[in-house]
Amino acid sequence: MDNQFTRQERDNSARLAELLHHNTDWIWEVDADSRYVWVSEMVTNQLGYTPEQVLGRTPFDFMAPGETARLKKTFEEILASRQPFSGLINRNVHADGHVVILESSGIPLFDENGTLTGYRGTDRDISQLGERVLQLESIYQNTPLALCMINRKGLLVEANKAMGELLGQDAATLPGKSLEDIVPDWHLLLQQDFMLLDSGEDIASKEVCLHGRYFYIKPLPVNDAGGHVSGISAAWVDITDRKIAEQKLACANQTLLQYAERDHLTGLFNRRYMDERLNNEITRAQREGSSLSLCMADIDFFKRYNDTYGHQAGDQVLRGVAEALRGGLRPADCVSRYGGEEFLVILPDTNGEGALAVAERLRERVQALAIEHESSPLGGALTISLGVMTWDASQLVCNIQSTGHISAELISRSDAALYRAKQQGRNRVVVA
Ligand code: GH3
Ligand code: MG
Ligand code: MG
Repeated sequence: MDNQFTRQERDNSARLAELLHHNTDWIWEVDADSRYVWVSEMVTNQLGYTPEQVLGRTPFDFMAPGETARLKKTFEEILASRQPFSGLINRNVHADGHVVILESSGIPLFDENGTLTGYRGTDRDISQLGERVLQLESIYQNTPLALCMINRKGLLVEANKAMGELLGQDAATLPGKSLEDIVPDWHLLLQQDFMLLDSGEDIASKEVCLHGRYFYIKPLPVNDAGGHVSGISAAWVDITDRKIAEQKLACANQTLLQYAERDHLTGLFNRRYMDERLNNEITRAQREGSSLSLCMADIDFFKRYNDTYGHQAGDQVLRGVAEALRGGLRPADCVSRYGGEEFLVILPDTNGEGALAVAERLRERVQALAIEHESSPLGGALTISLGVMTWDASQLVCNIQSTGHISAELISRSDAALYRAKQQGRNRVVVA
């Protein structure tokens, strides 16, 4: 019975020793002077020395140059604290000369009087992982793409060199700074962004303007070991050139539109625009069952004006008349230079009475400009004649009811009224 128990005890002890020696971590015990008093066989795999070569020596005997100075201080602190420690990373030199990065953890040992007798712990070889971390760190730091990481409090926890250059600051000084001071608009949305990420949704990219340059920011979630979103990693791309090109294009389009719709001399709408506009107004009048009025105006004896004062003076008159007409209309009305010295006015939702009043007002406004016209038989001042027509959209104006036919008919009627105004002596309004 006694024998059997001893055998079981021996079996357990052998099993334990096997586990200790074959664990991939190196297990060790040091005395109060940091001398190894017991080491597992794994030390040979990690450092290339046999346990016998290690016993009696201290961890500092195996460390790379420079590490002893750095770690002695940490070790003294650990000894003084008499607390367990973990994650202590140290560089060591293998028997064949290459560097081995170890991560050490340990617990303090005490005798029955509470005196520290040493430490017992493990060393894990993290050389491969350490190398990988160093590689990634180098890539992160040196990529030309500006990168940063923001925590849930809105503080920068990482920022690479390109990020520092982008912000005109030393990258090393960026961790700890608030997003509020860098991109205030995004900071306002940050909690909302974290809520979206927490619920598994993507967050929108941002476009910001900083110090006169434009940036596209692509944010991505950073998860902790538990899979929870602990921060946001953001890549910044300088899109200033694209933005400037877009602005130039928008400007050019605006100019093209201007050329397409406007008369160069007066700035009024041109005939091309007006024909399209008239079609739209006809459709609208039909839809709303409203009246639409047109007013065709023409400068009296303008050929004589040019002959007397010259073509340039004539151009100046065209500008002045255009301005007088434009200033005499409501915003919904629309005036154009329809021909050489001819102006077409569209008066939406305006009945005959209203149109006549507008036409009369326009005639008076031009006369009030008091432009000298000595060769005009009408009393020495420049005048205009106007033909007005009003269409009640419920009435038929021509047999073919297409917008194009209606529009041609309305123009022709206002033209006819203008012709009669000329015939009746000019400087007057005639209603079709
Ligand atoms: P009416 O009273 O019958 O309208 O006589 P009018 O001389 O005004 O009419 P007419 O059609 O005989 O002549 C129009 C003149 O308008 C001739 C042309 O030189 C002038 N004109 C047309 N476009 C322009 C322009 O862009 N600038 C200048 N200065 N004159 C123009
Ligand atoms: Mg004329
Ligand atoms: Mg004319």
